[in-house]
Amino acid sequence: MQKDVRKFGISDKRGRAKTNEDPYVPEAGLKEPAICDNCNALYRNRRWQMDAEGAAAESGNPDVQRVTCPACQKIAERYAEGVVTLRGGYLWDHEEEIRNILRNEENRAMAKNPLQRIMRMEREGDELIIETTEEKLAEHLGRALHSAHQGELSVTWSKEHSLCRVNWERLQ
Ligand SMILES: [Zn+2]
Repeated sequence: MQKDVRKFGISDKRGRAKTNEDPYVPEAGLKEPAICDNCNALYRNRRWQMDAEGAAAESGNPDVQRVTCPACQKIAERYAEGVVTLRGGYLWDHEEEIRNILRNEENRAMAKNPLQRIMRMEREGDELIIETTEEKLAEHLGRALHSAHQGELSVTWSKEHSLCRVNWERLQ
């Protein structure tokens, strides 16, 4: 009898989710469904998604976990994985247009993966600094800006610190 119980335990998905040994599940240990208290992102089927209807439907579920998603944690701790620095006179002549491009690209990226976000976009002196929660989004923003407005683009990756630095400049 005891043997049967153990067997069931091994094949039971919820039992497996409690171990941290599955390398294919980066969120191992996080039970489903989970909802981020801060941004309402929903964790289901082993991925985070922006799904307002799904989150509303799950919020009545007594088993739902109330958590802070990885993106909101990084924003709270100001832990940027991507830093984009824009400069040059052309930037300030087209500031609104450029800010819109960046926000649109963020929205597109978030539709695919809600953990990719702009955590800060501020002017500092003659530079516009954009910090992102994920490295890939920083590179993506730089490439989108470059293809829309040309200029000079450089992308540098630092593997040790898991940081992507993007510089873009256009004088006129
Ligand atoms: Zn969140």
